[in-house]
Amino acid sequence: MDLRNKIRSVQNFPKEGIDFKDITTLLKDKEAFKECIKQMANKFKNEKIDIIVGAEARGFIIGAPLAYELNAGFVPVRKLGKLPSDTIKYEYELEYGTDTLEMHKDAISKGNRVLIVDDLLATGGTSYSVAKMVETLGGEVVGFDFLIELEFLNGREVLKGYKVESIIKY
Ligand code: IMP
Repeated sequence: MDLRNKIRSVQNFPKEGIDFKDITTLLKDKEAFKECIKQMANKFKNEKIDIIVGAEARGFIIGAPLAYELNAGFVPVRKLGKLPSDTIKYEYELEYGTDTLEMHKDAISKGNRVLIVDDLLATGGTSYSVAKMVETLGGEVVGFDFLIELEFLNGREVLKGYKVESIIKY
């Protein structure tokens, strides 16, 4: 199945000049959603993943079924102030200003084999931030698994040294 056909491109969202890749058209299609998770799982099925980490919000949608498929646990990364227990924080640069991501301090155990998951790799800033938090907690980042990669933004460069996989490239 060609999953690329299931992605909707929306021009000028969220602002002028952006060609937004909308995955909701893929997610609502039961065959396409299943195929997407199967293909993403295949890339890391021999890697003995303990934990999948996904950032809100679309990292949850892809990350949870992928964890189930790979027999791994799921750990959420959230925007500042959403997680109830003790957290570590990572502040990262946006186009204008900064944003802060958080994860629970006890979410990762030393030596855990961790796979970081998101719907889309753009500049790599989000995924890099997640990796730094995982490593601070003693986890081993086995790689990154994306549904979509925007190659012209060179996010792969930011993640160099890690195994980076994606299903659909633009
Ligand atoms: P990065 O940190 O620049 O790699 O941006 C990746 C994050 O932005 C991911 O969490 C994506 O969900 C989101 N993102 C950026 N561009 C798009 C898009 O075109 N469609 C959907 N999500 C996007």
